[in-house]
Amino acid sequence: MSRPLVIRKRAGDLRIKPNWTDYAAERAAFSWEAARAHLAGLPGGGLNIAHEAVDRHAADPRSGSRIALRFLGSGRDIDYRALAGLTNRFANVLAGLGVARGERVFTLLGRVPALYVSVLGSLKAGAVACPLFSAFGPEPVATRMGLGDARVLVTTADLYRRKVQPVRDRLPGLKHVLIVQETGDGMAAADGVHDFESLMAQSPRRYETAPTQAEDMALLHFTSGTTGTPKGAIHVHGAAVTHWATGRYALDLHPGDIYWCTADPGWVTGTSYGIIAPLLHGVTSVVDEGDFDAHNWYRILQDEDVSVWYTAPTAIRMLMKAGTELAKQYRFPALRFVASVGEPLNAEAVWWGEEALGLPVHDNWWQTETGGIMIANTPAFDIKPGSMGRPLPGIDACIVEHDAQGGVRIVDTPGKDGELALRRGWPSMFRGYLNNEERYRKCFDGDLYLTGDLARRDEDGYFWFVGRADDVIKSSGHLIGPFEVESALMEHPSVAEAGVIGKPDETAGEAVKAFVSLKSGWKASDELGLALLAHARKRLGAAVAPKEIDFLPALPRTRSGKIMRRLLKARELGLPEGDTSTLEGQAS
Ligand code: AMP
Repeated sequence: MSRPLVIRKRAGDLRIKPNWTDYAAERAAFSWEAARAHLAGLPGGGLNIAHEAVDRHAADPRSGSRIALRFLGSGRDIDYRALAGLTNRFANVLAGLGVARGERVFTLLGRVPALYVSVLGSLKAGAVACPLFSAFGPEPVATRMGLGDARVLVTTADLYRRKVQPVRDRLPGLKHVLIVQETGDGMAAADGVHDFESLMAQSPRRYETAPTQAEDMALLHFTSGTTGTPKGAIHVHGAAVTHWATGRYALDLHPGDIYWCTADPGWVTGTSYGIIAPLLHGVTSVVDEGDFDAHNWYRILQDEDVSVWYTAPTAIRMLMKAGTELAKQYRFPALRFVASVGEPLNAEAVWWGEEALGLPVHDNWWQTETGGIMIANTPAFDIKPGSMGRPLPGIDACIVEHDAQGGVRIVDTPGKDGELALRRGWPSMFRGYLNNEERYRKCFDGDLYLTGDLARRDEDGYFWFVGRADDVIKSSGHLIGPFEVESALMEHPSVAEAGVIGKPDETAGEAVKAFVSLKSGWKASDELGLALLAHARKRLGAAVAPKEIDFLPALPRTRSGKIMRRLLKARELGLPEGDTSTLEGQAS
């Protein structure tokens, strides 16, 4: 069936008017200074994300008793006033443990209240919050906590035993582990191991938020590159201005909204838009602790009266697989706005929204480094299904070409592919990769931040995703560095070399596939393949480990010794091999 190329923006008969309706006018009138004025600032000057997200609303009689977080699994509701008290207590816990400003507090938790309280409480204390995804295995946990120089970890006894204890000796800087009790899941007190609830109960409910400034480090998010260890992207308290503005423009948050972000705070979306942005707008967030289940997700949308829903293409594809008939068994009268991020959202999925939910899906684009949504389909203009939308107010995006001298040139002609670049200056831009200044500098050319994504801009100023400029894999919305997976495979005694690629997958976007060659004395077999997959799963966790493995006599390498993942991928997919002049063993 042929579909129209645009979905017209909804007109003025809506019950709740969108926050903006005129793209050009709003962009022209916008300034970051004016956006900053929507935040309060600390009473003595300075800016603190947790003050803006929690205390500001707690102190206001109109919003103090409003539910901030509704945990569906446990049935626990936390209103803004209670959240202020809990996060104060946690900040006092850190003070009691002697945690200094700028030190890193990691969380390795499911989406339970303690996660939200720890992140926001750390921000209040002026410490740096680093949420890790609880599906990570010991290897990614150790790498990230080591790089981030973790001082404190908040986790459960079970996660600690399985994921931290095996690598504990690699984390000499880790002074305190706070154990969140789950039913019947205690842990004997030991040096530096504390019970989260007892410490919270002993700590005062009052706390004066640390006098942080807009440029002080607030959050550390790890992201994967093609080579080497993951990079810790530094974000500052001033990022709250972007979170607020994008909550308004890209998610259309209004007072009274019930909002559901399905992302886990272990990924940047789950922090920027699962914790911070909705609280900045004083709305109610529902939090589902469970994993994806189509029935359950429709039930949540229906029974919780969700009005704004922020999800991911993989989830939408899984709902599509479950069939539109299932969606039709539910009603979503409260649902007003649906958005998605993280991977390409195909036009079909945008139209599926119209059919199943009665609303189109608004795709938007951003990445760990940008800290917030940069390009989006919004309520202010027509959607072009398949495109990522247009740059938000305050954001200048362009397409650049690399020249032979190592510089870049802006491509003015619409329709040409190139690297997506953003003009620096938005408040949530990352301020560095922790301890890797050189890598950070390489991301910029003068004023322009180079995103590593290939895209094109059309004549109406919409951006279309083309692909990644590097070998990084996107699986179920998670960015996976091939190097990290290869390193884990190489630990197995049988493996001589490993190369890892992303293979197109109908649901997950890409699936991780590994190629290995074996050391002499080992023979390829199905059993060994399964053993290697199990090994990788144990070391890396299910979210990162390969799903498929093939044995090769040797892996293609460049003359300088780099594994040519691009070639492995081309061969796997039966695509042209492209330029192989640097391939080892090739006649020059
Ligand atoms: P992360 O830093 O883990 O959030 O991953 C960011 C990357 O995800 C981007 O650089 C893109 O490669 C990809 N991505 C994010 N949003 C979109 C989108 N709307 N369409 C296509 N790719 C996206």
